[in-house]
Amino acid sequence: MICPACGSELREMKTESVVVDVCDGGCGGIWFDRFELQRVDEPHEAACPVLLASEGSPHVEVDHGRRRNCPRCPDTVMMRHFFSVKQQVEVDQCPGCGGYWLDPGELALIRSEYGSEEERRVAAREYFKDIFGHELAAMRAEGSEKAERAWRIARMFRYICPSHYIPGDQPWGAF
Ligand SMILES: [Zn+2]
Ligand SMILES: [Zn+2]
Repeated sequence: MICPACGSELREMKTESVVVDVCDGGCGGIWFDRFELQRVDEPHEAACPVLLASEGSPHVEVDHGRRRNCPRCPDTVMMRHFFSVKQQVEVDQCPGCGGYWLDPGELALIRSEYGSEEERRVAAREYFKDIFGHELAAMRAEGSEKAERAWRIARMFRYICPSHYIPGDQPWGAF
């Protein structure tokens, strides 16, 4: 597979818990197939030190503003969104196959965000409860024009952090 960030050839790397594709001659990014990232995204899960320390070659330039195509589905442009409601790490995820592309350093940062999957879920639940339950509900109460805006904002939030959006879990239903 070809690296979506710098165009180098990715190298398959088998670690204790996952098989990933690493851009070790190029930008240092890592490709995780669907569900693989979830096996190493928390501090108590074993992650190969090589992955955590993955660095790009100083000779490779990466344009971080450019949209990237999925290395598995080359015709599909990946979606860029925050990995968690902390909104610290922006990842690229393929809407087709569900895989993730991480730039160097991002895996370590993601692992430092929450102690467990449960903590991550609770934080997301609280965050969305605030947004959907209070702020947007107040806007909706103020009339149809504001309600329309509230829907638009709600839809936007789905895309900011889709991995933690829980359909139908808002007081005023799914959208
Ligand atoms: Zn690369
Ligand atoms: Zn894909």
